[in-house]
Amino acid sequence: IRSLGRELDAARYQRRTLHHAVEEVKGNIRVLVRMRPLQSSDLAAPRHAVRVEEGSLEVDDQRNTVAVVSPASGTQSFEYYRVYAPPGEDTRDAAAEQQRYVFVEQVQPVLQSLFDGVNVSVLAYGQTGSGKTYTIFGQGAADDPAQQHASTPHSLHRPPSVASPLVLDGLLPQSIEHVFAMKREFESTEALKASPEGGPDPAVGVALRLSMVEVYMSDVYDLLNPVDPATAPAPRMTTGGAASSTTLASSGTRCEVRAVPTGGAVVVGATELGIDSEAAAMDAVARGFAARKTHRTLTNPRSSRSHLLLTVFVDVTARHARGGGVVHRSSRMMFVDLAGSERVHKSLSSGDRLKEAQHINRSLSALGDVLAALTSTKKRSNAASHVPYRNSKLTHLLQPCIGGESKTLMVACICPH
Ligand code: ADP
Ligand code: MG
Repeated sequence: IRSLGRELDAARYQRRTLHHAVEEVKGNIRVLVRMRPLQSSDLAAPRHAVRVEEGSLEVDDQRNTVAVVSPASGTQSFEYYRVYAPPGEDTRDAAAEQQRYVFVEQVQPVLQSLFDGVNVSVLAYGQTGSGKTYTIFGQGAADDPAQQHASTPHSLHRPPSVASPLVLDGLLPQSIEHVFAMKREFESTEALKASPEGGPDPAVGVALRLSMVEVYMSDVYDLLNPVDPATAPAPRMTTGGAASSTTLASSGTRCEVRAVPTGGAVVVGATELGIDSEAAAMDAVARGFAARKTHRTLTNPRSSRSHLLLTVFVDVTARHARGGGVVHRSSRMMFVDLAGSERVHKSLSSGDRLKEAQHINRSLSALGDVLAALTSTKKRSNAASHVPYRNSKLTHLLQPCIGGESKTLMVACICPH
């Protein structure tokens, strides 16, 4: 058994080394494009007509390209790490199958390094309604298409829609499931080092914690610590120009953000919930979502104007060698449902709505600058150039999980119209 254990160790080491080598070649920042299927509400959307005149988008999941076809300037084609076209069949099964496929093909390989201390991030970028929440969390959390264009103040008086059963099959729930499977495998193989009989080794293991925060107008709110609605400040209403709008504090508790000397920033006092099972983790996610959703029914499009950051902190304790001392490694995976990237026309927005749009624009372009700095450093292969993480709270909070050894998947979600 002892020699088998050694062989297993050697094989695992070799597999890991090979895996890392392959992943290294593929690069640490990967941009994926995912086009969601056409929906009946797309045809009702007033912007549809404009889009047709502007041209169309064609995705090719064989060549991994997106072509912008425009009557004025012809066809321009862009290549990405991977492009996903809408599933051929418009059924729930086909949609669920694609969720699984994207996870297995893209996320699972990068999670492989998580217990070795490598940080991972998965970000969803795109306009409101393009499938960001669907991609990260799944159908049960995504917007109901029937409510999608109800962003006028009238929607404030609409009764909240009856919650459909929460089907969470997005990249985050699948990752949580996978990480728990990795944990079980790790703990059982590590245990072999302490006693060849394979009894549990209490000194080794993987501990997981989860946090869920929302970044709105440069403030950070803890969604796992909801504010009691009875004591929350009343919503502030402003009316200006053509559009009237509402700004509310999130239904999470507002937290301070502090820079840490080792790089990045922490949300001071945000709940980090210990999770010892998949069920406990998904329960926490559902609670965080409820805090966000409650809020959403008050000011309908509000959730698309904030960034949602979910972090799973990983603490690994392993044995150095058979019967030897222990070693600790920490890492984390972050899932980010970014604010809607649509442009807000100055003429249509004023007051708080415009301020929100400016915050979103600033943080998304700061994210673009960080990614550009990281990828150009790689290309020129010179000493690390300055990466402007501190230009926005979003990028500062993401710093530990983007750049360096970290693995980043950027999913650009696009609409078919
Ligand atoms: P966003 O978060 O970007 O505003 P959502 O994730 O809420 O967009 O998606 C908008 C709508 O499109 C939802 O009804 C969602 O169920 C649907 N949808 C998005 N992506 C897909 C997909 N890949 N397959 C099937 N339906 C999708
Ligand atoms: Mg969303």
